[in-house]
Amino acid sequence: MVQKQLESYREQFREYKMTPQRRLILQTLLENREQHLSAEELYALLKEKDSEIGLATVYRTLELMEALSIVHKLNFGDGRSRYELCQPHTEHQHHHLVCLRCNRILEVKEDLLQQLETLIEKEHGFQILDHRVSFYGYCSDCQKNETTGEGANG
Ligand SMILES: [Zn+2]
Ligand SMILES: [Zn+2]
Ligand SMILES: [Zn+2]
Repeated sequence: MVQKQLESYREQFREYKMTPQRRLILQTLLENREQHLSAEELYALLKEKDSEIGLATVYRTLELMEALSIVHKLNFGDGRSRYELCQPHTEHQHHHLVCLRCNRILEVKEDLLQQLETLIEKEHGFQILDHRVSFYGYCSDCQKNETTGEGANG
């Protein structure tokens, strides 16, 4: 499954070669699709597979893949850039739910914004191609822990 997906990226690398390390980085991103990894987290995972790989290579490759629209950089205000594989061009970016307590990042796959998009396009004559939406708050687990944690006696 991942192998097949990897092949489909060959074209997106254009004149750049799909070197073994670039391939491994892409594979690791595919295997951790919903993780929103930072360069450092990605590096830690890569190290387990290829001890030769360096952090500088990871940074450079992410930069290249960003320029080639293979990944995009996300910023959730916690001081580190995270990376996510781009979706097909026909789809709008999914939304992110950022938990301020456990720093988990959840995804909302449904667009839910069509009504707003239509309104904006009509009112402002602006053609919307995509959007980045992040919601900040507390995930359901953290809300549960909050109530059980404080309610328990001794
Ligand atoms: Zn949309
Ligand atoms: Zn949480
Ligand atoms: Zn995401």
